[in-house]
Amino acid sequence: MSTDEKRERAFFSFEIFPPKRDMPLETVYRTLDELADLEPDFISVTCGAGGSADGSNHRTIEVASAIQNKYHREGIAHLPCIHFCRADVLSMLDELEKNGVRKILALRGDRVPDLTPKEDFRHASDLIAFIREHAKDRFQIFAACYPEGHIEAPDLDTDIQNLRRKVDAGVDRLISQLFFDNEFFYTFLEKSRRAGIRVPIEAGIMPVTNKKQIERMVTLCGATLPRKFQRVLAKYESQPDALRDAGIAFATEQIVDLLAHGVDGVHLYTMNNPYIARKISETVRTLL
Ligand SMILES: Cc1cc2nc3c(=O)[nH]c(=O)nc-3n(C[C@H](O)[C@H](O)[C@H](O)COP(=O)(O)OP(=O)(O)OC[C@H]3O[C@@H](n4cnc5c(N)ncnc54)[C@H](O)[C@@H]3O)c2cc1C
Repeated sequence: MSTDEKRERAFFSFEIFPPKRDMPLETVYRTLDELADLEPDFISVTCGAGGSADGSNHRTIEVASAIQNKYHREGIAHLPCIHFCRADVLSMLDELEKNGVRKILALRGDRVPDLTPKEDFRHASDLIAFIREHAKDRFQIFAACYPEGHIEAPDLDTDIQNLRRKVDAGVDRLISQLFFDNEFFYTFLEKSRRAGIRVPIEAGIMPVTNKKQIERMVTLCGATLPRKFQRVLAKYESQPDALRDAGIAFATEQIVDLLAHGVDGVHLYTMNNPYIARKISETVRTLL
């Protein structure tokens, strides 16, 4: 039996992004010093969709390796494949393995303007099948899912059919896109289980601290901002501390409800803000 199968409590994990290439790595270490103290089950590290073309994968490898070896927590490297060729993926797997990172979030990624996508991987499922073929079970593979449907999918049911194909290609665990209304997640869970998707599914939660940032995010990913949260944004948009505290309270309430519902785990999009992660962790830790 694997460690995951023995667990009864929900996972609690974080996402961070690496510093830009012209910024020193130390900036992210200051964040990690605090996040690692909160003892998450794992910390995932995003990767710019430009991947190997703009070198963003190197930063992801460096930070995921530090999580594993300097902070002694489980690190996950995101791997968006649209601008990768097979040789790039093999080289990234090799680097990760050498550094003891055995968890990958396998993604398609989005098109980067002015960069022609490579043709080796059209969907995340192509990447997952490729990793399974070449690395067998040496990596635990995570993948993304979308409680409100992926923005390019014609509808939620079609997206879930595609998700089933992706899971069947060799996924161990799913992490969801952010959402602000738990009912979307519960409907998605029910439909996914009915479609035969059995792997654990973690709920992705983003504490909102900045109105412009969240409006950009929901435009990109198509998540619905509930009316009650729009009111909070409108009232506190010019009071950063009040908006931060309201964002923490809203996310905490979402997480309490998710845990009461018995979800497999919660993945916090920390935006590299340890204060927010700490506040939320302190409240929900005993509920896991
Ligand atoms: C938790 C999480 C972390 C993320 N981290 C990053 C990151 O670090 N870097 C980054 O660039 N992006 C990241 N993203 C964004 C992600 O790359 C985009 O949402 C992207 O548009 C889709 O990626 P995917 O892996 O879900 O794609 P896919 O699973 O390939 O799905 C993309 C679309 O294609 C459809 N589809 C899938 N398979 C098939 C098929 N066989 N036939 C027809 N249609 C199909 C799906 O329904 C969907 O509409 C993240 C997303 C999430 C939820």
